[in-house]
Amino acid sequence: RPRLILVLGDQLDLQSAAFDGCDPKRDVVWMAEVAAESTKVWNVKARIAVFLASMRHFREALREKGWRVDYHELGKHETLVEALRASVRSLKPSGLVMVQAGEWGVQRDLEAAAAELGVPLEVWDDRHFLCTPAEFAKHAAGRKQLRMEFFYREMRQRTGVLMEKDGPAGGQWNFDHDNRGTFGKEGPDLLRVPPKRFLPDEITREVIALVQERSAKHPGTLKDFDWPVTAAQSLEALDDFITHRLRDFGQYQDAMWTNEPWLYHSRLSAAMNLKMLDPRVVIAAAEKAWRSGKAPLAAVEGFIRQILGWREYVRGIYWLKMPDYVRLNEMQAHEKLPGFYWTGETDMNCLSQAIGQTLRYGYAHHIQRLMVTGLFALLYGVDPHQVHEWYLAVYVDAVEWVELPNTLGMSQYGDGGLMASKPYVASGKYIQRMSNYCTGCKYDPAQSTGPKACPFTTLYWDYLLQHEPRLKKNQRMSMQLKNLARLSMEQRSAIQQQARRVRERCGGEG
Ligand code: FAD
Ligand code: SF4
Repeated sequence: RPRLILVLGDQLDLQSAAFDGCDPKRDVVWMAEVAAESTKVWNVKARIAVFLASMRHFREALREKGWRVDYHELGKHETLVEALRASVRSLKPSGLVMVQAGEWGVQRDLEAAAAELGVPLEVWDDRHFLCTPAEFAKHAAGRKQLRMEFFYREMRQRTGVLMEKDGPAGGQWNFDHDNRGTFGKEGPDLLRVPPKRFLPDEITREVIALVQERSAKHPGTLKDFDWPVTAAQSLEALDDFITHRLRDFGQYQDAMWTNEPWLYHSRLSAAMNLKMLDPRVVIAAAEKAWRSGKAPLAAVEGFIRQILGWREYVRGIYWLKMPDYVRLNEMQAHEKLPGFYWTGETDMNCLSQAIGQTLRYGYAHHIQRLMVTGLFALLYGVDPHQVHEWYLAVYVDAVEWVELPNTLGMSQYGDGGLMASKPYVASGKYIQRMSNYCTGCKYDPAQSTGPKACPFTTLYWDYLLQHEPRLKKNQRMSMQLKNLARLSMEQRSAIQQQARRVRERCGGEG
């Protein structure tokens, strides 16, 4: 009897541990497209299409390698468990094998289904990652406080990445101070090479038609769809980034600009998260660019830190803290997510830009996610669970292990300081400094009250006022609270009234 090799939509890796010891002549690969994966959170069209197109291309790659694939196309089954039950009934496998899922709930459901069906299930560590959940737990054990920076240094030492005989390359671990550039008034270089596009082939065109038909009511559009959907395309995207944009990645990694969704970012997150691209290959290519003089160390270190550091770190936190983590709400935030998050229709230009490109491409870069959409939700007081569901639905790279700690932890401070040592709060002036969004906006980031007051600035002061007693315990908030102390009683009450009006207005749009 065959073994059934379960391959989920974010496990598209021919080198996966799930195939170890399996035999194409006997065993069968199981894959399933199910409606629930795009409706349990209300997915944008681009995310659905990236997953389905990549899965269908992977099915072809498996067949070319001689595997028999038991593939359930969309429409046959509502959930993964239903699809699995059907396959177990028809194929009567001797056992099931998989690598650990990217979502706690999916892993739990599949384990429960296997038990119910009476078929043994083997679950392997996903060796796509450089650090296993068990290794991370060991790193975390006995530490009072977890900090990414220390984890990252350990990973550098363990892997030898950007290391010299006597320590870190260039004599320091972190080049953040070189990586905070803005575009000033002129904006990004108009002559830079835009990211390589991958126009839909026949398989992807079929998927696009399917999504247009079945998921017509989902937000977003597919008219610009150009994501890499195969391992070969992912390598081309990597090469394109290393050749044309890595050099400037560091300097501009926090900067934003109107109608410029990509800037100097790599656009590799979805390819990596679906496991079409090995992070070791990405890291090695970046390191090689520095060693051969094609990119400066600050840019290369900044880029590698995101992958060897942050990406592995958030996964470690996820598996360490689930399942309770998803319900944390340290600041007791209970507002509803404003409706414009699903349409982009708001007069706040920064939000309209960040949400607009999110719905159009399924993409926004880190600072847009953290310091525009995330910051507004935090200041507004949205329930972090709702924020989490939005982020999981709208980005092509969203998989719960990476999305949840970034959203609930880093951006919403919902875990009370595990991911971020203080809430990432700022006024509209931060957005003004890092972008040109404010020049095209009816509001003024310097004003917290009055008709032109920037809602970010109003809500920033209101947030500090609301949470002052709690924030006082955090040393790292002392500068911000010192500024708050300068406000008169009249100013405070005017801010609070204005904040109420902002909430009434945005709530009305919800
Ligand atoms: P680049 O800017 O080119 O960075 C290179 C790579 O580094 C990325 O491809 C990614 O793999 C990795 N990386 C960078 N920052 C992080 C981070 N904080 N955590 C983990 N990996 C990181 N990333 C996801 O992959 N999926 C998500 O669902 C996701 N949700 C996020 C939600 C919020 C609220 C925030 C603040 C960040 C989130 N991120 C998420 C992290 C980051 O924003 C994206 O990885 C990045 O914007 C992807 O674009 P890129 O490939 O062009 O990245
Ligand atoms: Fe955003 Fe405020 Fe700037 Fe408008 S003024 S773009 S709302 S930060």
